[in-house]
Amino acid sequence: MTDPADELARSFGFQPVDPAEKAGKVRQVFDRVAGRYDLMNDLMSAGVHRLWKNALVDWLAPRRGIRHLDVAGGTGDVAFRIADRVGGEADITICDINHAMLEVGRDRAIDRGLVRGLSWVTGDAMALPMPDRSFDSYTIAFGIRNVTHIDQALSEAFRVLKPGGRFLCLEFSRLVIPQLRSAYDRYSMGVIPVMGRLVANDAESYRYLVESIRRFPDQKKFAGMIEKAGFDLVKVRNLSGGIAAIHSGWRL
Ligand code: SAM
Repeated sequence: MTDPADELARSFGFQPVDPAEKAGKVRQVFDRVAGRYDLMNDLMSAGVHRLWKNALVDWLAPRRGIRHLDVAGGTGDVAFRIADRVGGEADITICDINHAMLEVGRDRAIDRGLVRGLSWVTGDAMALPMPDRSFDSYTIAFGIRNVTHIDQALSEAFRVLKPGGRFLCLEFSRLVIPQLRSAYDRYSMGVIPVMGRLVANDAESYRYLVESIRRFPDQKKFAGMIEKAGFDLVKVRNLSGGIAAIHSGWRL
């Protein structure tokens, strides 16, 4: 049987790719979409991505004073929600490989008057520029499917968490309501690239984003990968019938 991590490293959406070139191609996608990223998220999901991100932060239930790391944090959506929940009383690092996405995030933070307690760091989920056992919690939202070697990103998450630390991943997943499958396929494969062309003048990037969802392992396989990285008490919650899912694990 093929290793799901290896299979993902060799695919860029539906195209085969040399794993050494995947990160560069992913970076180009997010360089191109950064300026329109937030608008497109709202349009593509009719705003539902906001509810999914709220669900992620609900499950995290952050406490005041935590040290939190949001990887592939992009334009800051998850970090802002955590900061709001704890009234700004947390130390939150947003790490992303793409400088253009972080710049949009930093500008949004300034617009919201959110400056204290947020640090913006350029870095790769597969080789985090952070010491061992340094965070109470780690989130990654719609990021891990873009990473070349998912198993390395999971090991890094485990490494930087303190014992007792919490891992949460929000990602597109597999529909668990078979009746919705054909409508969902028509929408995602047909409508989203057209929206990408009309709104962001970039159908290709949005085709990649949709195809990469299809390549990502289902809920059970991904839970297995999280356990393999060392996490305990791994649990999954489906959102919107499995269009997205949150995986949770603990470093014990
Ligand atoms: N978390 C944000 C959200 O939910 O709105 C952004 C998600 S966006 C779909 C995916 C992000 O993953 C992009 O900002 C991209 O630059 C980042 N990314 C891709 N590969 C990465 C890697 N190897 N390490 C860190 N970030 C990465």
